[in-house]
Amino acid sequence: MRRKIIAANWKMNMTLNESESYLECFLLEIADEKAVDIVLVPPFTALARVSELLNDVQNVKLGAQNMHFEKGGAFTGEISAAMIRELFAKYVVLGHSERRTLFGETDEIVNKKTKAAIDASLRPIVCIGETLAERDAGRVEEVLETQLKGSLAGVPAKEFSEIVIAYEPVWAIGTGRTASPAQAQDAHAFIRKNLAALSDSATAEKVRIQYGGSVKPGNTVELMKQPDIDGALVGGASLDPRAFAEIVKLAGKS
Ligand code: PEP
Repeated sequence: MRRKIIAANWKMNMTLNESESYLECFLLEIADEKAVDIVLVPPFTALARVSELLNDVQNVKLGAQNMHFEKGGAFTGEISAAMIRELFAKYVVLGHSERRTLFGETDEIVNKKTKAAIDASLRPIVCIGETLAERDAGRVEEVLETQLKGSLAGVPAKEFSEIVIAYEPVWAIGTGRTASPAQAQDAHAFIRKNLAALSDSATAEKVRIQYGGSVKPGNTVELMKQPDIDGALVGGASLDPRAFAEIVKLAGKS
């Protein structure tokens, strides 16, 4: 049985004050929620403050939105895995489609970051997903296989259970358009089959695969009921603490 993991990707939103108000509301809403792993992924500037606020909270973990693969040096504007770890974060989102399309991240870069995160005992949430043009051209499987293989190249199979894969169809991110539960399940089953090819089926069964793309309370249950969907990476709806808490609770019951 894989435990569901629901993550809030705040993207470039939330000042320190806003983060504090969010936590005040959110932590009350989910105080009794123990059925799923909950991860908050604030911008870098709010990581330290959110980390302090989560100090005594057992059921919510912290994640970062990105990191550099080098340990340190002349990389202006970047932060390292160790810097994230120092703030007691456990997860790091890698290869988000916004990083890939707006900041030129390739599978090779995502691969280096994935290895560096694992070396630093951070759990990577590796994002993959096709564009609408790729889906319309019937290339979903080819794209997912390429991104998955490229991102995980050289990662030992024994580390796979520490990795979370987020299937995020680019056409569903921030668009209000969600993949149907059947479309998402097909993609997740395909990803798991490829994870088995890269390791073995017992290992692939342990890897959690999140769905991301306009998840909201209204579509959570149907998505989370699918056998290969093990959670959600939530953007827009995670900015409202009550809506995100609702998603967490619904996922806990699915
Ligand atoms: C995301 O950015 O990872 C995401 C899934 O965004 P949204 O929920 O807004 O589609």
